[in-house]
Amino acid sequence: MNYAVLHGAQIVNMSFAGPKDPLIERGIGATAARGIVMVAASGNAGAKSPPLYPAANANVIAVSATDAGDKLFAASNRGGHIAIAAPGVDIFLPAPDGKYQMTSGTSFSAAYVSGRAALMLGRNPALKRGEVRAILMRTARDLGSPGRDDQFGAGQADAFAQFVELDAVIYLEVPFEIIIKRISGRRRCPECGVIYHTSHYEKSTCSCGGVLYQREDDKLETVKNRLAVYEAETRPLIAYYSQKGLLRTVDGEGTPEEVDARIAALLEP
Ligand SMILES: [Zn+2]
Repeated sequence: MNYAVLHGAQIVNMSFAGPKDPLIERGIGATAARGIVMVAASGNAGAKSPPLYPAANANVIAVSATDAGDKLFAASNRGGHIAIAAPGVDIFLPAPDGKYQMTSGTSFSAAYVSGRAALMLGRNPALKRGEVRAILMRTARDLGSPGRDDQFGAGQADAFAQFVELDAVIYLEVPFEIIIKRISGRRRCPECGVIYHTSHYEKSTCSCGGVLYQREDDKLETVKNRLAVYEAETRPLIAYYSQKGLLRTVDGEGTPEEVDARIAALLEP
């Protein structure tokens, strides 16, 4: 820790866990006094283990491990000191001798959180130690019982939320049949590039004389396929942001000016 402090480290990541040690406690205290962020693996001693150090020191951000299904890693330590959780099961990582390996443990979760903290400080170097901890916890994706709990702390570190604290998410609601009509009715002129719509323009030639055509990605089948992909991959975001209380639904039917006015009215403080 002395070495890290002397060399200007802003974050100390600790991948070791054991009983309380007076010397390490002193080092943590001195490092905390310098305003340095400290992150530690909670340990891999399982549900019955007492809190291990240095993670259990109040100046340290204690990290537990989750698996791909957002369940707690069975061997992860838990307790009132856990601040946050991060992926730590079957993590694909570099290994000695230029190899790779699948590894599990809270050490890898701690490294993840340290990396997040580093990106955060990279963006805003003025952030204080306590603020880094507070933002990490405030932006975590809640897991387990609602609110902070002894398994996941505030929840799983959320990389996206941490960097972009959104005020609102606008959902433009337009029935599929209208979207299909809008897109599949588009006709383009290959000569001058002007776009027409079959609902306003019935001729098959442009005013410049070019013969209108339908682009491949405007064809009915393509549009339907795009909407199916939207259903599967994008629609879940509506529930996600709705749960966070950020979703603002706007009627997307009408002219661009009408829709624009609705969005503006919604965002007024
Ligand atoms: Zn034309």
